[in-house]
Amino acid sequence: AYQHIRLPATGEKISVRAGRMHVPDQPIVGYVEGDGIGPDITRASLEIWNAAVAKAYGGRRAIQWCEVFLGDKAAALYGEPFPDEAIQAFSDLTVSIKGPLTTPVGGGMRSINVALRQTLDLYACVRPVRHFPGVPSPLRHPELVDVVIFRENTEDVYAGIEYPAGSPQALKLENFLRQELGANIREGSALGVKPMSEFGCKRLIRKAIRHAIERGRNSVTLVHKGNIMKYTEGAFRKWGYELAREEFGEFTVTEEEVGNGASAEGRIVIKDRIADIMFQQMLLRPAEFDVIATPNLNGDYLSDAVAAEVGGVGIAPGGNIGDFIAVFEATHGSAPKYAGKDVANPGSLLFSGVMLLDYLGWGEAARLVETAYARTVADKIVTYDFARQMQGADEVKTSAFAAAVVARM
Ligand code: NAD
Repeated sequence: AYQHIRLPATGEKISVRAGRMHVPDQPIVGYVEGDGIGPDITRASLEIWNAAVAKAYGGRRAIQWCEVFLGDKAAALYGEPFPDEAIQAFSDLTVSIKGPLTTPVGGGMRSINVALRQTLDLYACVRPVRHFPGVPSPLRHPELVDVVIFRENTEDVYAGIEYPAGSPQALKLENFLRQELGANIREGSALGVKPMSEFGCKRLIRKAIRHAIERGRNSVTLVHKGNIMKYTEGAFRKWGYELAREEFGEFTVTEEEVGNGASAEGRIVIKDRIADIMFQQMLLRPAEFDVIATPNLNGDYLSDAVAAEVGGVGIAPGGNIGDFIAVFEATHGSAPKYAGKDVANPGSLLFSGVMLLDYLGWGEAARLVETAYARTVADKIVTYDFARQMQGADEVKTSAFAAAVVARM
């Protein structure tokens, strides 16, 4: 029993049996409004998702939403912004979606988002990035961008193993590295550790390759800095090719094999790129990339950079996904300046919900949202952030935008 969370009166929980997820027709799905603009964009998105599901399945299916509290709302209810009950609910309900949360700057509290990923072992941060006609973009051919980035979410320099300069831990580690391993470290350095395990890299890359197979994509690119960090980033690359060969041999072929004359027909091409050149190629030759798998730090930078090519973080969706538990989320922050003004762009949360619908296997509803969104933007009905980058736009409030999308479904 929960303290403040109330399960809806109807609906069933999504279950996992024998390694498979079972989605009932009335699944209970968790949602967190979030802080700042969160309530505005959540209200708008719920209206659109519900309309799409109703239209796609004629009432046979419906999501039974269950509110989960994090951030300001949780602080008011529980006296803390990150109650255990929320984590419990994400785990119990399997699939959830959350609006943006305000991270207090400074102070001892770590980011709720980072804690969520680690506690629930949501090891893949998945970011699809594609362009919708009419959405303002700095590229001449934004329509060529259509990638899904799988970023490892639990390891790498983000694992949180770091010690401040001059601390007893840093000194101890420094001495050990210098004396026992002969490492050349400047005295009194701050130190961080970059763990990358075969298990951690392979399960992320496995998810990326499976996605590519299920969605009929053409390639999976491993993005790494193995030229410099040979035994961590280099291992990511090595383990990636190894996994593709050993577990997906009949579905994949490497770029090198194709270069040597092998056919890529009906197969997913596995290739790799050094992270720095990848940023350049995503700008100059975006059509060459499809599914991308990359360690944590590279993925953090790459996701935002690629999102900026097609409309920025205001529209880019995301999800943090483990073996089954998934928490989809708006990728932007709580934009406190616009809180409660009903002006924010719901796009990021809306498309995170499209990912959620696809995750449930409800692709028909997901496609309805995409098509209606595209029609709305093509009619130049947009929120302020897009309006100021477009000519002749009809700038509307968040709620009016939602109504316009629903009307075009
Ligand atoms: P932000 O994403 O909130 O805002 C950056 C800029 O983008 C601002 O100009 C903002 O007005 C605009 N913007 C963001 N979302 C928008 C939307 N949907 N529609 C229109 N404009 C939008 O980033 P910030 O200002 O650096 O951070 C504000 C708070 O959000 C901080 O507490 C930060 O820690 C937190 N944050 C949370 C997440 C998350 O929950 N995933 C991500 C980033 C930042």
